[in-house]
Amino acid sequence: MKFNGGYNVMLEGEPSTGVAPYQKPEALHLPLYSDRLDFSLLEVEDGASVVKGQVLARDPVNFSVPLLAPMAGTINLKFAERHITIEHLSASSDSETAEVGDVGDERQTLLRLGVWSSLARLDTNRVPDPERTPEALIVSVFRFEPFLPSPAAILKDGAGDFVSGLDRLHKLFEDAAVYLVVPESDSELKGQLAQAASSNSWLNLFEVPQTYPFDHPAFAAQMLKLSPKRAWSLDVQGVIAANQALENNRPYTKRMVSVGGPQINQPCHHHLPIGYPLAMIIDRQSGAECRIVSGGVLTGGAVAPSQLGLDIECQGLTVLEELTGREILAFVQPGFTKQAYSKTFASVFKPLFKEKRTTALGGESRPCVFCGFCEQACPVGIIPHLIYRYLDKDRPEDAYRFKFDKCIDCGLCSYVCVSKINHLKLFRAERSRAVTELIEG
Ligand code: SF4
Ligand code: SF4
Repeated sequence: MKFNGGYNVMLEGEPSTGVAPYQKPEALHLPLYSDRLDFSLLEVEDGASVVKGQVLARDPVNFSVPLLAPMAGTINLKFAERHITIEHLSASSDSETAEVGDVGDERQTLLRLGVWSSLARLDTNRVPDPERTPEALIVSVFRFEPFLPSPAAILKDGAGDFVSGLDRLHKLFEDAAVYLVVPESDSELKGQLAQAASSNSWLNLFEVPQTYPFDHPAFAAQMLKLSPKRAWSLDVQGVIAANQALENNRPYTKRMVSVGGPQINQPCHHHLPIGYPLAMIIDRQSGAECRIVSGGVLTGGAVAPSQLGLDIECQGLTVLEELTGREILAFVQPGFTKQAYSKTFASVFKPLFKEKRTTALGGESRPCVFCGFCEQACPVGIIPHLIYRYLDKDRPEDAYRFKFDKCIDCGLCSYVCVSKINHLKLFRAERSRAVTELIEG
């Protein structure tokens, strides 16, 4: 299979696969929102006592998926806006865990135990309808975007739970094919997965070069010629959580997050309950003003200063120095400490160079100079600068004529652009408009 485009951003501060020891917080602050979810329907009152796994709120737009209490404690709804705070925390014993119902209807079990919201439709990136069934499930077992959690940290105890979860999901989805996106290079984990695939005809490995964004499930769907309307994706943690929910009735309230970037003292992984205070995770170098990015640096977004705890979809946090001023005469400096797709800087002579990047994009927004870098880096073979121009002129029909629907939202076109044009922002706005039209129409 031929792969075009792609690029690896070499950023300083890669998290080690070690998992930091857990420190019990004074309180959990659960945001009532995340990238895709909005828990606007509260199910608890201020001052109420809750047990682990109890429903705190629901998202009425997304099939009433719940926000669950990760620990027992007392509810405080006044502590912070758009958060549910749980104080006086105690680790619940099994007898105190919320009644979660029998495991009879497995889809309802996944919904009730907070696992269903980890699934995503590939055409809209929304939570799929529990009444529907995908033709294929795509799970990316490796992530090349800095810095999402490492599968080596998540699967450090072996792939047993993971493979068992895949088997359950395959049966639950009426024999849907399951595709695992794995790198071409060999590893012990890949060997285990290849062995599982050799004895299960429904399980397939899709090998990709170790370059971003070839690990992206939407990219895999295009390469495998699967309809994005009928393919869903799930991450490795979601598969393990599905297995634990269906086998042990265990709610999905804790997740592995990576914390890295040039401003972090000891980049590593943490296994934490949702709502865990961000201030306790971010052990950053002192002095500089910082921006915390949730998700990968190419596709994630800045965490608002008002957000106090880990949200339900957070996978990783990357801390970058906030560049508040302009770099004076940056273009005459040789650039031993800078990296760029265009190989402009002297850092190309430094093997394995990793940049201590700030939030600066490297220049102000300028007109497109038709350098063609965005087209060259785009993994799905479309012309980002042309599509950008059509969308900017409010001509979406022309953008779709040039195959905008193939865009997988990887953000590489914005990253490599010498004029620092923010393609991704405009592309996301158009996608969100199209999804709203689809739902309302
Ligand atoms: S156009 Fe889409 S797929 Fe292509 S590089 Fe840009 S974000 Fe990625
Ligand atoms: S990378 Fe930027 S400047 Fe170059 S062609 Fe694309 S949009 Fe234009």
